[in-house]
Amino acid sequence: MVGTDTSTRAAPAVDLIAPIKGRIWLACAIQAIAAVAGIIPFIAVAELGRVLLAEPPLDVSRAWTIASVAVGALAVRLVCLMAAAAITHIADLDLQLDLRRRMAAHLARVPLGWFGERNAGLVKKALQDDVSAIHHLVGHSYTNMVSATVTPLAALSYLIWVDWWLTIVALVPVAIGIGLYAAQYRGYGEKMEAYGRALADVNTAAVEFAQGIAVIKAFGQAQSAHVRFIERTRDFVHFFWEWMRGLLVMSAATEIVLSPLFTLLAVLTAGLLMIGVGLTTPLEVLPFVILAPALTAPFMTLSYAQNDMMVAQRAAERIADLLNRPHLAAPVNPTKPKGSHVAFRDVSFAYDGKTQAVSDIDLVLEPGTVTALVGPSGSGKSTLARLLPRFWDVTRGSIEIGGVPVTDMTSDTLYGSVSFVFQDVQLLRSSIADNIALGRPDAPEIEIEGAARAAQIHDRIISLPHGYRSVVGEDAHLSGGEAQRVSIARALLADAPILVLDEATSFADPESEAAIQDALSTLVAGRTLLVIAHRLHTITGADQICVLDGGRIVERGSHGDLLAEQGLYTDLWAAHRGGSNRVEVTQ
Ligand code: ADP
Repeated sequence: MVGTDTSTRAAPAVDLIAPIKGRIWLACAIQAIAAVAGIIPFIAVAELGRVLLAEPPLDVSRAWTIASVAVGALAVRLVCLMAAAAITHIADLDLQLDLRRRMAAHLARVPLGWFGERNAGLVKKALQDDVSAIHHLVGHSYTNMVSATVTPLAALSYLIWVDWWLTIVALVPVAIGIGLYAAQYRGYGEKMEAYGRALADVNTAAVEFAQGIAVIKAFGQAQSAHVRFIERTRDFVHFFWEWMRGLLVMSAATEIVLSPLFTLLAVLTAGLLMIGVGLTTPLEVLPFVILAPALTAPFMTLSYAQNDMMVAQRAAERIADLLNRPHLAAPVNPTKPKGSHVAFRDVSFAYDGKTQAVSDIDLVLEPGTVTALVGPSGSGKSTLARLLPRFWDVTRGSIEIGGVPVTDMTSDTLYGSVSFVFQDVQLLRSSIADNIALGRPDAPEIEIEGAARAAQIHDRIISLPHGYRSVVGEDAHLSGGEAQRVSIARALLADAPILVLDEATSFADPESEAAIQDALSTLVAGRTLLVIAHRLHTITGADQICVLDGGRIVERGSHGDLLAEQGLYTDLWAAHRGGSNRVEVTQ
């Protein structure tokens, strides 16, 4: 895409946490010390037991030494745990701030047109959920994994020192557990994919069913519409049950084998047998009773941590993907336009780089005139109109304002020249005043109110609980028509000389329609206007009407000229006749 700079690639997913890698290593080292310090009191209990139960006389000084070491180890563990948690959490806060800043800076340069409903969802997910998933990884998973590995290793080293035969017995449940665990996850990747497909089928069938419900009911087909949904659900349940049936048995067996009780049972049985044949003594078995369960206990923690890692990895990939979105190139020599003369020069644009949505457009908007884009649905009206406020950059040709290509302007300059009012109005979760003053954050209150009055929305705003300070979505719940008037007030206040307007196709109520039309008449007065017209009677007075078909301008002229041509416009006009005869979007 021309003007799209993809050279600045963000680091791949795995490298997202690179800036804080050093601190994570440090925290892991400290956590390892904490894990060893955590096992020492258990060893101390075992050793103390051996001292107290040994043949008299009692070695009091050894007993005290052991007790002191245990208390010291506990203190070390406490300090180390706090230090490791503090390091990972501070590092995590820094990373989150850095990631959110990088995302915000990057998204500010991504083409406006990219922010559709689906992509807005992706942004929300990345900024909130995915960054939080990485928090879990940075803040907890690495250190948990270190604990879950070092703790059994420390216990194992001690047990080998006490009696390596019994240690082998204590390791049997671990070996069986690992085998069962591996069997459980054999083919897991393929199963997960099949699960995703089956779930997607159910979702599609559910959406089809829900979307078509009105039509289905109206045509009395409710019964047959259920069928596809029910079939997909049945397939899903069958697949899931088959998968889970095997998995449930395995996972229950794994859990039993890896439970501390099972290990205890194994070492006690083996210990008793070995005592019976004189291979060991009860004093040697005691440490195993206390410490052998520590060999299998962290297994589940490891499995959860591994799961967290997978979730975080996917989250990191989504964030990296967002940071890798191609963005609009910043102008090398930012230039300000001279006037509001607009020229589309040989413009073509393809969303996917191949299929042209608009082709070979040459169009001039003289200052202060109204140009209407009409044409069948999908003919390229919205695409062409959105190219002017740089929702996308053209694939070929150029668009100039006041003799300067839009790609040579900073966004402040561009949006100082062009404002737009589209149907999918976006209001921020901020005060109504902030929403109106979006293009001019420093506008005085009196001007904000003036714009709201002109946009026929002032009375509604002052009826809200906190007037202009009411927050959209919290104490200001506006209808579609009201939100549209707020966006008109926003455009009025921005006071750009060029306006791109998507005429509404439907209105919630006649009162709203009248108010919007009045507001629009104020807005369009004296500006260079490019309007996407859905209802032809609104633009019969336009200076020029461009008829689009298949992404090309196939006819152009005034209403009268076009009717005289007896071409596509005449057909469109005939199809529209019978509607309202009001002429709204004229100056
Ligand atoms: P109109 O406004 O006249 O209905 P559009 O400009 O919306 O037409 O669409 C022109 C062509 O571009 C159509 O073929 C449409 O499917 C395609 N199109 C529109 N928006 C997108 C998009 N965001 N991504 C890919 N193709 C799109």
